[in-house]
Amino acid sequence: MHKISDFRSDTVTRPTEQMRKAMAEAIVGDDVLGDDPTVQELESMSSDLMHKEAALYVPSGTMGNSIAVNVWTRELDEVIVEAKAHIYNMESTSITFISRVNPRPLPSNRGAMDPSEVERNIKKPSVHLPRTSLICVENSHNGWGGAVVPMENLKAIREVADRHDVKIHYDGARVFNASQATGIPVDEYAVIGDSIMFCLSKGLSAPVGSILIGPQIFIDQARRVRKALGGGMRQVGILAAAGIVALNEMVSRLGEDHKRAKRLAMEIHDLPGINLNPAHVETDIIIFGFDHPELSTDEFIIKLKERDVLALATTAKDIRFVTHKDVDDEDVERTIAVIREILL
Ligand SMILES: *Cc1c(COP(=O)(O)O)cnc(C)c1O
Repeated sequence: MHKISDFRSDTVTRPTEQMRKAMAEAIVGDDVLGDDPTVQELESMSSDLMHKEAALYVPSGTMGNSIAVNVWTRELDEVIVEAKAHIYNMESTSITFISRVNPRPLPSNRGAMDPSEVERNIKKPSVHLPRTSLICVENSHNGWGGAVVPMENLKAIREVADRHDVKIHYDGARVFNASQATGIPVDEYAVIGDSIMFCLSKGLSAPVGSILIGPQIFIDQARRVRKALGGGMRQVGILAAAGIVALNEMVSRLGEDHKRAKRLAMEIHDLPGINLNPAHVETDIIIFGFDHPELSTDEFIIKLKERDVLALATTAKDIRFVTHKDVDDEDVERTIAVIREILL
């Protein structure tokens, strides 16, 4: 019997045996009082990795992004975001809810905003207008099917930000996927952002947690905001221990996920109803348009589920598959056969 092949997200990954062992043995303290050595180790590993001053362990990527926006902005400000950005679409309006700032969504070419368009949207100081204080970039880009935003584009946006004294927050939930795909080290991506956030709980397979990284003065304030949002956690070295294993052991295997995503995309892209350019599958995420004469998106998802394949409909017309450590070659091959059986 096959197992359920769960392609809904890389967040469904279960912790490894090594993580569970590290969790069981973790030396812990009260992290809100500042004395959990395992959290401190994870935070200093993370800031070293990104070549920045300091880091903060947060319960989720959403909280990391929310804190970053809060620290870099004040009320009456505006934040430039890419139109399909996670921070703008998938975080329950957190930036307006928590920080009362106005998002300014811009179109893009697969996640890459036009730098001159970014510049055109930085407001001149005026009593009428919000103050543009922050630009958010995302890479790899979830909403664009795991697209890798080109480094030249990110650098050009950095130059615009510097010219106008605007900060950049880098949503690097999957920055390790971008780095594995391009060979560009993560600290080179981190240079783009005044702050960067990455997730331990996605392809890296830790059960919980993300890291926010930036200058010491930024992290000092971020720590206060985390507490205010209810994100201060006590013997959380138990979870951080899994995060340390994630950084040490799980980064280099992300390439396997990318290969499986490509294989799946290559085998299904020309089936009836599927609208997918396999060249657009650069990392672990496949998003394709679905438009079938007999099957709605939801019906297709149900048929997959009846055959023990799980995927997500992200809109009424789009379906997402994500590869990760808990779907192997066998899952991929079985899923290709199942999709062919349903659509042919
Ligand atoms: C998942 C994700 C987040 C948020 O992480 P959570 O831990 O789910 O809150 C932020 N940005 C991007 C691009 C993501 O994919």
